[in-house]
Amino acid sequence: MFFSLRKHASKLIAATLAVSTMASISAAALDQPVAMLSSNLNASVGTVLNSDQINTAEQALSKAEAEAKKKAEAEAAKAESAQQAASNKPSSNQQSSVSDLLTEPVSAKTVAYSSSLLATDSIKKNSTALGNYKLTFYCPCEKCNGVAGAKTASGTTPTEGRTIAVDSSVIPLGSRVYIEGYGVFIAEDTGGAIKNSKIDVFVSSHDRAYELGVQYANIYLLG
Ligand SMILES: [Zn+2]
Repeated sequence: MFFSLRKHASKLIAATLAVSTMASISAAALDQPVAMLSSNLNASVGTVLNSDQINTAEQALSKAEAEAKKKAEAEAAKAESAQQAASNKPSSNQQSSVSDLLTEPVSAKTVAYSSSLLATDSIKKNSTALGNYKLTFYCPCEKCNGVAGAKTASGTTPTEGRTIAVDSSVIPLGSRVYIEGYGVFIAEDTGGAIKNSKIDVFVSSHDRAYELGVQYANIYLLG
C-alpha cells in the first residue's frame, strides 16, 4: 500500500481534495513540489487514510475521470453532428425545401440567374411542372406598363424578386411559381402580351429589364 501511495501520490492529492472528509492537506501545500508533498502526504496518510478511504478516493477519482471522458465524447459527437448538419445545409441563397417555399414570405431579391437555384428533386416531386417558359422582364416605367407606377393586377405594389406577370388562365393569380435558376415568385400581375407559356418578370429599372432581355426557364407551379 505504501509503495502504491507514493506511486499515485499526485492522483491521491487530487483524490484527497475531492473527498471532503479527507481535507488534511492545506491549500498552500498545492504550490509545493510533489516530492515535498509526498512526505506531507505520507504523514497525513498514516493518520487520516485507511485502505477503505483510499479505495473510496480512487473510485471517486476514476468515476470523475470516466464522467469527464464521457462528457468529452458527448461533446465531440455533438460537434460532429453539428458539422454534419452544416455540411448538409444548402447555401443561404438556396431554398431548403418545398414547405419553406410554400410558407415563407417571398421577399424582394435581385432577379438574376443562379445555378444554385436549379429545381431540386423535392421541388420537382412536390409541384406541377409547367414546362419551359419564355421569360421577359418589365419595370414600373410607362414604356413597360402603359402607366408609370401602376399597381399589379392583384392590387399589390410590384416588387422585384416577388412579382411576376402571368397568363392567369394558365397560372392563377396568387400562385407561387418556381422559376428554375431564379427562385420562387408570386403570380401577381397580368399583361396583354403575356399568354400561355410566357412570364413577365418584374425588375426595378428599365435598364435591368433591357439587360436581362429574353430568357427561357423551366417553370414549377408550387401552389
Ligand atoms: Zn420599363
